[in-house]
Amino acid sequence: MVTSLKISVLSDKQALCGYGSEHGLSFLVEADKRVLFDTGASDLFIRNAEKMGIDIDSVDTVVLSHGHYDHGNGLQWIDGKQIVMHPDAFATRISGRSGRNISIAVSRQTLESRNKIIETKEPLWITESIVYLGEIQRVLPFEQECSTPFHFADGSPDPVADDSALAVKTANGLIVISGCAHAGICNIVEQARRVAQSDKVYGVIGGFHLTTVDQRLEQTITYLKNIGCEIVMPSHCTSDDAIAEFHKHFKGETVKTGMVIEL
Ligand SMILES: [Zn+2]
Ligand SMILES: [Zn+2]
Repeated sequence: MVTSLKISVLSDKQALCGYGSEHGLSFLVEADKRVLFDTGASDLFIRNAEKMGIDIDSVDTVVLSHGHYDHGNGLQWIDGKQIVMHPDAFATRISGRSGRNISIAVSRQTLESRNKIIETKEPLWITESIVYLGEIQRVLPFEQECSTPFHFADGSPDPVADDSALAVKTANGLIVISGCAHAGICNIVEQARRVAQSDKVYGVIGGFHLTTVDQRLEQTITYLKNIGCEIVMPSHCTSDDAIAEFHKHFKGETVKTGMVIEL
């Protein structure tokens, strides 16, 4: 358990003045270890890190939330690190809407030639406070219908089973850090509580994959309220309308690239 957690936003859709933004996500998580969570869609995370005075070379562990380009393309610029990911993260996957290939642009082989890859479907404790949640069990009824518009190269549907997240044990409770939350943000929070054996969730930050203000969004807010979550900071693939709804009910400012969030 740590007394404080610092998250530096290296890539997200909004940015403070002077920083670049993109459709991507990359956070530097600092607790009892510094962990790079996702690498965004390009080398933008490195350029923003430099502006923030962060030396990415000094970070030895990278966690990939899932195998989509907007979280993993930055891996092309990663060298000499251990990278934790789900074994399916390198699948070739296509967007049903655009027909575009949305896989990670770097091959497993290339990445492995420069780094140590740790593949697991199971939760993995990186330190005694930071845990990679592994493949998320999709248990909550209102998130069961998480059908995605994605498919694999052979045309079969892609439920993004590799979608995972980080959780950090702090003195205030768990803090859950999501990538895109294709598995459902509440399913992810449930998994964090199960894996960390702690019901108290203090905060949730990252992509929630909620775009419309609808019944599911209401159910998400109700769920997070019921478990006593205090700080909710959706970003990335959460629409501005959805973010505004969360701000009505929870503490937490809008996430912007260049911010250092202390929780
Ligand atoms: Zn995704
Ligand atoms: Zn994403």
